[in-house]
Amino acid sequence: MTADVPTISLSSGTSIPQLGFGVFLVDPADTQRVVEDALEVGYRHIDTATGYNNEAEVGAALHASGIPREEIFITTKLRNDHHKSRDVEGAFSRSLEALGLDHLDLYLIHWPMPDNDFYIDTWRTFETFHADGRAKAIGVSNFLVPHLARLIAETDIVPAVNQVELHPIFQQQELKTFQATHDIVTEAWGPLGQGKYDLFGMEPITSAATAHEVSPAQVVLRWHLQTGNVVIPKSNSKNRMAENFDVFGFKLTDSEMAQIDALDENRRVAGNPADIN
Ligand code: NAD
Repeated sequence: MTADVPTISLSSGTSIPQLGFGVFLVDPADTQRVVEDALEVGYRHIDTATGYNNEAEVGAALHASGIPREEIFITTKLRNDHHKSRDVEGAFSRSLEALGLDHLDLYLIHWPMPDNDFYIDTWRTFETFHADGRAKAIGVSNFLVPHLARLIAETDIVPAVNQVELHPIFQQQELKTFQATHDIVTEAWGPLGQGKYDLFGMEPITSAATAHEVSPAQVVLRWHLQTGNVVIPKSNSKNRMAENFDVFGFKLTDSEMAQIDALDENRRVAGNPADIN
């Protein structure tokens, strides 16, 4: 299967495929198979993290696929305990080694852990990874507006991306507006609500699915793409991977988009980053 997945320009000068594949909670024993399936389906953007304990298996799948490195976009993230123990350089090198890569396309601070007050210092180390070419782009995850504002004021490079919880129930409007003014791309994690809501049984998602003869999950992903989010759904099932990738053959109407926009309850399904330290 092939599809022309749009790319979004990053302030780093590189670009990111707007639809990727996430591997949170994919068991290491299954990860190589799952990522090989995703690559076969057509995904060329894989999102992992040191904290997912499956970087080596992601790397094994990349190498087994034979797909040229420059055709695949790889993100991983600094694990909280390495952030806290100030082992940033070591953690980055070990991630590259586990993945079997000489550079990443995107390296993220996984959580700001604001009470520890390390993220400015950590970011300065991230800037060196970008300067020496080992991270083509650097970004953050789970940063709130005050964390971003401080980073922008006190360091040299504006994060290319902020990867945050975002789905129809929690649309992050204030954060998105701030990010748009600073050329920070919004990447949605938990784009399907992590299965914690009955999003797929909810109007107007079900009506749009019927109207376009697609599944509710495809409607939700299409909504993300049309709002400009980068999106990284996860599934262990190759059928669902294919379903989630097949979202370029229809377009939601302005009215359907507005009705899904109206589902926003500004409510998280996961923890508040201010409280994770
Ligand atoms: P998600 O919203 O992608 O939901 C995954 C769940 O939806 C799984 O249970 C899956 O079985 C189900 N699902 C997938 N496709 C489906 C379909 N077509 N129909 C019905 N059910 C379907 O949640 P997620 O995995 O937490 O988020 C996606 C990715 O975001 C992760 O894999 C990870 O890479 C990233 N992530 C990042 C952070 C962070 O702190 N930066 C946190 C969580 C996730």
